[in-house]
Amino acid sequence: MHPPLGRSEALIEADRCYFCFDAPCTTACPTGIDIPGFIQRIRSDNLTGSAHTILRENIMGGMCARVCPTEVLCEEACVRNTHEDKPVNIGLLQRYATDPVFDENIALFERGPESGKRIAIVGGGPAGLSCAHRLSMLGHTSVILNRDEKLGGLNEYGIAAYKTVNNFAQREIEYIRSIGGIEVQNSVSLGEDFTLSELQDEYDAVFLAFGLGSVNDLGLANEDVEGVLNAVDYIADLRQAENKGDLPVGERVVVIGGGMTAIDIAVQTKRLGAEHVDIVYRRGPEHMGASRYEQEFAQTSGVTIHHWAKPTKLMTGERVAGVDFEQTTLDKDGKVTGTGECFSMNADIVFKAIGQTVSGKTLGTVTATLEMRHGKIVTDDDRRTSLPGVWAGGDCVYGGDDLTVSAVQDGKIAALAIDKYLREESNNG
Ligand SMILES: Cc1cc2nc3c(=O)[nH]c(=O)nc-3n(C[C@H](O)[C@H](O)[C@H](O)COP(=O)(O)OP(=O)(O)OC[C@H]3O[C@@H](n4cnc5c(N)ncnc54)[C@H](O)[C@@H]3O)c2cc1C
Ligand code: SF4
Repeated sequence: MHPPLGRSEALIEADRCYFCFDAPCTTACPTGIDIPGFIQRIRSDNLTGSAHTILRENIMGGMCARVCPTEVLCEEACVRNTHEDKPVNIGLLQRYATDPVFDENIALFERGPESGKRIAIVGGGPAGLSCAHRLSMLGHTSVILNRDEKLGGLNEYGIAAYKTVNNFAQREIEYIRSIGGIEVQNSVSLGEDFTLSELQDEYDAVFLAFGLGSVNDLGLANEDVEGVLNAVDYIADLRQAENKGDLPVGERVVVIGGGMTAIDIAVQTKRLGAEHVDIVYRRGPEHMGASRYEQEFAQTSGVTIHHWAKPTKLMTGERVAGVDFEQTTLDKDGKVTGTGECFSMNADIVFKAIGQTVSGKTLGTVTATLEMRHGKIVTDDDRRTSLPGVWAGGDCVYGGDDLTVSAVQDGKIAALAIDKYLREESNNG
């Protein structure tokens, strides 16, 4: 999406930083990276030191440098916005500092003295991997039990291909695993191959990080007709395709939704050759889950965004032929309601991108025992669940913001809390 910075560009950009004492950018970063600290090290050409400053707080600092919506996190908070309306380009500087670590496999962290404790981690996405790495630094062994064939979760199967090129997700995972003490079993599922109570019996602690496995339906008739697709599954196929040119792409594509997934699927299908790509969202631009920057990115990539309309009917023959919509507005209670005005759009592909929920299959064996809210797991500030010895983090937890960086932070917080719990248990005999 953005070319990396060269040395002189990075030094010029680093010079724009005021090295603020209270660093609002650091406060705005969910993982609390010392941003002025790492930028200062770039200025003195100490890239390894800079990378260490980043990765000690966020072991996926390489991926986050590529995929974080910095425009609503650290860069939104940067004081340079006040003076020049242009923040320090923190994301690209972070990438400049961390790329050599992954390219040259520079070991920055060591496994702690062996504790003899084993922790089961359900899910090998950002939350699970971050937890495993921190547990290893603390001397524990983790066993990642992962449903997909590969580790990485949505970093590998979900995030747009144009944001993370050259197999970066897998290179980062190899780096994370190189610390040691992280065992992995892929293609195994909680709810199918093992139960939560089996893990509680077998391991010293459990961390649940299985993300969201199901996509919300539109609630319309004929949703299973050919041509109505789930955006997340299509993106997974796209990310795994050897030749992206072999994927079927519609000519007229309609995307229903307003978040990052809607933007990603729209931009990707446009780049793959679809002639018309329209996003339709039931509220206004200010309500979209996708940031203003992402909305503009889609629009400048040739995607049209329509606001204030909801789908009412799929036009179908042997396959989908289009969608009927009704214009929407907010009623006096702030709820979306139809205005009665209708319009139609022709489409040979309709993508559903209206959010995800925790998969019922995964929860099959655990819902009765875990405290849940709105289909997600309830935790305290330490990511401890209502079950003794069980922590949870990432997208499957209630109250999060469904970002890679937040999942990484959850994994880190849970690992520190699990370590404290295990040490207290050992001390108590
Ligand atoms: C299309 C799309 C685009 C996105 N783009 C961005 C972006 O640009 N920037 C950003 O910051 N965030 C983005 N996100 C959000 C981000 O990817 C997630 O917030 C993040 O990946 C959550 O990490 P996680 O570890 O909680 O879950 P996931 O990444 O979903 O990983 C869950 C893991 O659990 C495993 N699993 C699932 N069920 C089971 C089971 N029953 N048993 C065992 N293992 C199981 C899966 O195999 C997977 O490896 C995007 C999300 C989507 C869907
Ligand atoms: S807010 Fe901006 S100028 Fe201040 S320390 Fe952070 S990046 Fe530098």
